[in-house]
Amino acid sequence: MENKILGIHHITAIAGSAKRNYDFYTRVLGLRLLKKTVNFDDPYTYHLYYGDEQGSPGTILTFFPYEQVNPGRRGTGMATEIGYAVPADSFDFWIDHFDRNGVIYNKPAEKFGEKYLTFLDPDGLKLELTVSKAPDARKPWTTDEVGEAYATRGFHHTTITLEDVKPTARVLTEVLGYRLAEQHVNRYRYVCEAGSTAAIIDLVEAKGEQPGFVAGGAIHHIAFRVKNEEVLMEYQERVRGFGLSITPKIDRNYFYSLYFREPGGVLFEIATDNPGFAIDEQQEALGQQLKLPPQHEPLREKLLQRLPAIP
Ligand code: ZN
Repeated sequence: MENKILGIHHITAIAGSAKRNYDFYTRVLGLRLLKKTVNFDDPYTYHLYYGDEQGSPGTILTFFPYEQVNPGRRGTGMATEIGYAVPADSFDFWIDHFDRNGVIYNKPAEKFGEKYLTFLDPDGLKLELTVSKAPDARKPWTTDEVGEAYATRGFHHTTITLEDVKPTARVLTEVLGYRLAEQHVNRYRYVCEAGSTAAIIDLVEAKGEQPGFVAGGAIHHIAFRVKNEEVLMEYQERVRGFGLSITPKIDRNYFYSLYFREPGGVLFEIATDNPGFAIDEQQEALGQQLKLPPQHEPLREKLLQRLPAIP
């Protein structure tokens, strides 16, 4: 199983105000800020990483915040929802907590025999808390406001909305090692054969719906997880063998990545577990300082002046 895709590694989305994003994900959702760095391709923009204590793959949600961003729009050809696993009986807490913090949410519902609670972040990104049928033993990051009995355990699933599910389903099953586990009406649930957590991708077929637009409050890409660079490069071959183009290996400081666009229009990444977030700061101090890759270190003073202050 070691040379396989192991589930979701991270999900990256676009936000507006960095401060508002930081407040929501750390205080309201109760995640840890793992890394405060910049977009390596656009260093005057932050790249903020949130997750569990160590930044375990399958818990990592990252944002590019642009202070003056245009809102995106959910639609076909994009990932449209992020599901977090939470403990059974935690919804009463979350509903109270959302009420206290002015969070927009829907009343709990159920799909595939699992209860879920849908809510929006301040930029309109759609998130869900799901009580998983499968046991989830991941140890959560906890805060004063969000204790262990309620805290998110990491990703449960992500949903991709498509005009036609078939081409994307072929990539999931023939290249990435997913299998169709359940289907209800237009929702097809794919599960990663080699992963036990963050293992679900739901494909929703929405024929005739408007194409989505990736901007504020929208998901930019989904990264799948592999153990190391050796496996990463095996997947480069597999994706090419399937007839899709894929980038060379890119060093993202905290992992190594490949990117390709799947035929349904969504940007997929494959990312390694190594080297992880403790490569440039101590585990206890993750997220406290602005961390820059060597190529952007000369910009540090300018960046500290220009980037909005977040704790
Ligand atoms: Zn990424």
